[in-house]
Amino acid sequence: MSRKPFLLGFGAMRLPQTEDGTIDRPLARKMLRYAMEHGVTYYDTAYTYHARESEPFLGEFLQNYDRASFQLATKLPQWLVESVDDARRIFEEQLKRLKVDYFDYYLVHSLRKKTYVKMVDLGVITYLEKEVQAGRIKKLGFSFHSSFEDFRYILHSRAWDFCQIQYNWLDIEEQAGRAGYELATEHGIPVIVMEPIKGGSLLSLPPHLKEQVQQVAKEDSIAALSLRWVAEHRNVPVILSGMSTLEQVVENIATLSDPRPLTDEQHSVLEEVGSYLRSRLGNGCTSCSYCMPCPFGVDIPGSFGIWNTFRLFGRNEQVSKRWESMGDKGPLSCTRCMACVPLCPQQIPIPSDLARVHEELSQGAL
Ligand code: SF4
Ligand code: SF4
Repeated sequence: MSRKPFLLGFGAMRLPQTEDGTIDRPLARKMLRYAMEHGVTYYDTAYTYHARESEPFLGEFLQNYDRASFQLATKLPQWLVESVDDARRIFEEQLKRLKVDYFDYYLVHSLRKKTYVKMVDLGVITYLEKEVQAGRIKKLGFSFHSSFEDFRYILHSRAWDFCQIQYNWLDIEEQAGRAGYELATEHGIPVIVMEPIKGGSLLSLPPHLKEQVQQVAKEDSIAALSLRWVAEHRNVPVILSGMSTLEQVVENIATLSDPRPLTDEQHSVLEEVGSYLRSRLGNGCTSCSYCMPCPFGVDIPGSFGIWNTFRLFGRNEQVSKRWESMGDKGPLSCTRCMACVPLCPQQIPIPSDLARVHEELSQGAL
C-alpha cells in the first residue's frame, strides 16, 4: 500500500561505518527501520556510494517491505558509461542489487553540460527514455553539481521529471543555487534537494557565528534550522539527508514532520552569516573525491578541506595537525598535469587553488 510522501528522504551515502570502512550494517539497519516506522518513504542511493556497497545493502533491507510502501531512487554513474551497452548493463545490475523490478526515481549522476551531451550522443538518454516507457523507470531526472549555465542548458534540453541539486542557506550562489531552483520552478520541474546541511559543515561554524545562529534558532538545533530553511521552498518534494547516526534520523524526522517557517529574524541572521562565510571560503570543494586519485598522490579534497577550515577558523590545533600530517600528499606534490581538472563537478581550478593552499598555510596568512 502506498504511503503519504514524507518531506525527508533518506540518503544512503553517509551510512555509519565500521573501523574497516564498510557499512556498519546493524546500526544502519536500525536507522532505516526507524525511518520506515516513522513515515520516511523516499530512499536514495547510487551505484558508487560506499564503494558500491550501498545499493546491495539497501536492497537487502528494502526487500522486507511492500514495494509500494517506499520510493526508491538510484543513479547512473555516467563517468563509467562509454556506450548504451554499459548503461544497460549497469541498469540491469542495479535492479538486481536493489532487488526491485522498477525504480521510482532514476537519475543520471552528477551531470554537467559536457557529460549530458556525451550521454545524448551515445544514445543513453534515448535508452533511459525507453526504460521509462517500459515502466522500469517511473521518473527520470539528473543530479547536479556544476555551474548555473550548465544547469540551464540541461534543464532546457528535454522534459525532465525532476532534478536534484545541492541547496542550503550557504550555497545559494554555488552550483545551480537559488537561480537554478527558481528556473526549475518556473518550468514546473520539482527540485529534490541534497546537502541541506552542506554535508554537516553548517554545524561546524566558528564559535562566534555558531552563537549568533543558535541565539535565533532558540530551541532548534542549527541542523533543524537549516532543514526548515529548505522546507520553506514549495517546489521541493524531498529533502535528502545523508544520515550517519540514529540521533540524526530521529532529529530530522521530528524537524520535518511539521516544519515551522523561519521567523524574519532567523532569515536575516542566516543571510548575514551566509554572506560572511561565502566571503571567507577558499573554494567550494564538497569533498566528493571525483577528482581522485591524483596520479601524483595529492590529497586534493584533504588539502582544500584544511584550507577552508583554516579560512573559517584560523590556524587552530586541528588545522596545524592536519597540515603537518599531509607530507607528500600536500599541494606541493602537484605537477599541474591537469588530469583532475575536468573531473571536478564544482569546476574548481584545482592546480592553482592548490598553489594558494600552500602559500596561505605555509605562511600562516589570515
Ligand atoms: S593537476 Fe595536480 S592535483 Fe591534479 S591530478 Fe595533476 S598532479 Fe594531481
Ligand atoms: S576538488 Fe572538486 S572533484 Fe575534487 S573533491 Fe573537491 S569538489 Fe570534488
